[in-house]
Order: sequence, then C-alpha cells, then structure tokens
Amino acid sequence: MKTIIEPFRIKSVEPLRMTSVSEREALLKEANYNLFSLKSDDVLIDLLTDSGTSAMSTKQWAGIQMGDESYAGSPSFYRFEQALRELAPFKHIIPTHQGRAAEKILFSIIGQENDKLIIPNNTHFDTTRANIEASGSQALDLVKQEGLDPQVDLPFKGDMDLKRLRDLLETQAELVPIVMLTITNNSGGGQPVSMANIRETKALCDEFNKPLFLDACRFAENAYFIKQREAGYQDKTPKEIVQEIFSYADGMTMSAKKDALVNMGGWLALNDDNLAMKARNVLILTEGFPTYGGLSGRDLEAMAVGLEEIIEEDYLNYRISSTAYFGNALDKLGIPIVKPVGGHAVYIDARAMLPHIPPSEYPGQALAIEMYRLGGIRGCEIGTVMFGQQPDGSEKLAAMDLVRMAIPRRVYTQSHIDYCIECLEEVNANKNNLRGVNISWQPPMLRHFTCHFEPK
Ligand SMILES: *Cc1c(COP(=O)(O)O)cnc(C)c1O
Repeated sequence: MKTIIEPFRIKSVEPLRMTSVSEREALLKEANYNLFSLKSDDVLIDLLTDSGTSAMSTKQWAGIQMGDESYAGSPSFYRFEQALRELAPFKHIIPTHQGRAAEKILFSIIGQENDKLIIPNNTHFDTTRANIEASGSQALDLVKQEGLDPQVDLPFKGDMDLKRLRDLLETQAELVPIVMLTITNNSGGGQPVSMANIRETKALCDEFNKPLFLDACRFAENAYFIKQREAGYQDKTPKEIVQEIFSYADGMTMSAKKDALVNMGGWLALNDDNLAMKARNVLILTEGFPTYGGLSGRDLEAMAVGLEEIIEEDYLNYRISSTAYFGNALDKLGIPIVKPVGGHAVYIDARAMLPHIPPSEYPGQALAIEMYRLGGIRGCEIGTVMFGQQPDGSEKLAAMDLVRMAIPRRVYTQSHIDYCIECLEEVNANKNNLRGVNISWQPPMLRHFTCHFEPK
C-alpha cells in the first residue's frame, strides 16, 4: 500500500490558525518580508526547522511527571544514562542544555593546548564551526566531492573523503586533535554517511591514533538509510545498526532537539577520562552539576524515553518515507530539489527554479516569501541572504540559493504534506510572475535573522 500512515494517533491537538492570502500579505509587510519576524501563530505549516519541534509521546509526558529534580544524583539522570548506554556505551555521559553547549565545552578544552589546531569533519554544522573557530582552531570540511553537487543522486553523499583525510593526517597529524563525522550531514542536505565510511574513517583514525567523535544529532535517521541502502544491513534492526555506528566512535556531541525527540537538551559523551574530567569542570561553570547539565530532571526522563522511541522501525520508516514522499512529489512537478531527498528536510533549488531572478536579488527569499503568502508555509532561505554578507560589509553570492523545508518529527500528517505539495504546484505554475527582493536594512552580521526586505 502506498499511503504512509503515521504510526501514532493523536490524543492532544494543537489548533492551527487559518489566515487568508490578504491577511498574510499584510503580515508579511509588517514583518518586512523576513519570515523570522513572523509570529508563529500566523504560520499555518511551520517548516522553519526540525530542531526542538518534535511532538512528544504519551510515554514521554508520563516521564515528565516522573522527573526527579534533585540537584545531585537524580534517578532521572541514571535513567537517561542507561538509555543512552544501551545504544552508545560511552564511559562518560555529560548532559548539556543543547548541542552547541556540548560543542562549546569540547572545543574549549581541546583548543586550550594549541591555538592552531585543525578539526576535520565531513561538513561542520554552523554552530560546530563557530565553536571551533571561537577556540582559535580551524574547522575543515572534507566531504566527498559528490556531496557538494545537489543534482547527483547517490546513496551516501555525506561520506568523508578518506583520501583527503589521509593526506591531512599524513602531513599535519600533530595539529589534528580529533576527527569528526556528522551523521546525517545536515549542512550537506541531511545526506547519510555509510557504515563502510564510518568504519574506514575509524580505521584511519586508529592508524594515526586519533579519536573519532560523531556529531550524531540524526543518528537514527542515518541508521535507517544504512538499512535501506547499504548491502548487508537489510535484516538488521535500527538498534543494531545504531549500536554498530557508535562502536566505532570514541565520543559524540548531540542535540537532543533532533533524534532524541525532545524540545530541549543535548549531551557530550566520551571515553577519555582526562578529557571527561576537564569537560565536567567546564560544565559546572557553564551548565550545572554533572547529573543534570543545563536540564531539569524531567527533561532527562523525556530524553531517555525519546531514545527508545527514535529507533522504532515503524517510526523511522514513516519518517524517512514521508520526507521522501514530499521531495519526490516536488521532483515529479518539475520543481528542482536537492537529490536524493535527505532525512529531515526537502531543499528546493530556488536559483534553478527562478532563473529570471538574478542571485543578487535573492531568489530563495523570493520563493520563501511566496510560499508563505500563498499557503502560510514557512521555510527557510539557505543561500545568499544567509551566507552572502562578508565581514567587510561587501556582498558575495552563495554557492547555491536554496529554500529548506525541514519537517518537525511526528507533528504533521500526510494531508499537511499534500497541502504543501499543492501549494508549491501553484507557486511553480506562476513562478514567472515572481520578482526578486532588495535588502533595505541589515545588521552588521547574521543578517538573515533580522534584516528587512523590499519586493522589487
Ligand atoms: C542542531 C545541530 C547542532 C547544534 O545543536 P543545538 O541543540 O541547536 O545547539 C549541531 N550539529 C548538528 C549537525 C545539528 O543539526
């Protein structure tokens, strides 16, 4: 059967506020055409991010009631620690309030020794890169060449380029304190990394005596892609695949706002006693006591349950199939998307879709505005608006102008997705009438969050 049924039913509902096109035109104007400035009550389908937007289960809400708020030694911490060890048996598990706090702690202790270190990864996520650079080190992206081409349809476009990693280690091993792999590769379109590549990256790390850390925010989605696409894994359970993935790692950073199915949380986990001791010392300064990190006991309970639910096969099948269903439908309509469809989002190539809008007039922003105007759908421009502003104030075109539609976990049903497809079909039919935008005001950095636009 073709229909993807959500492997859950709905017990508690959150009403959506319907708005008309003319209302949304007024709201856009008021927001200076910046979708970050909209009130989320005015958004019908919010695909701005999959981070912290998951719906929790009845079991997670029950866990919230069970949360023990003791300052030290809470049973909620031990339940969380045990749930994580079941998948990733790291010796030291250190909760933090979100992923970037784990990164900040890890890189501040690694960067202390020497300020010209190099940290390779397939592709660093923005906060990972920023935390490495803030510690004085260099963040180096070594994803395979194919991972940079939005049109090639290959199963594991998140794979590390092992030849370039070997070159780096052969020439500058003393400057490389750890090697990282981001699963799935978020900045590369949510593309997975193969088990073979994880295994070979670990073998290379062993050869040069370097620890391998996973930025594992979407580890379960990555495991499901391995099950579907990599020979030898079809008959394994997601849990077995996840366990094998973590067996190759010496540590991990995690945003629990992704594949732990909670709204806030994260952790750093690792085997090295000395690094863990230093990490806990920083943790106490910036996050809290080691058995709560920056979290409440109830948050730890919800994460523990989330870690059991995220590896359920029916959930993962629904998750990966429904994202693919969305992307493949747009592809059939002739809307150019980044291929293959990743785990957590569909990316439209706005530059290819709107060739009459020059990249200097932000085709991604023009498309994102139109999706909201016509359908109340909020996506996110990932292109020249986000990356084009240079530190000296000049403007440089981004490599691509994309609009990302990230799918919150367990939140929207297939009919919501069908509605989005219908809306994009109409946007596509009238695309020649779309016009670009100007930026009429911008702050000195990170302009995409607050800048003002004006339609041409
Ligand atoms: C979200 C994310 C982070 C940062 O996590 P936060 O919880 O948002 O701080 C780091 N790496 C990747 C790959 C992510 O997707």
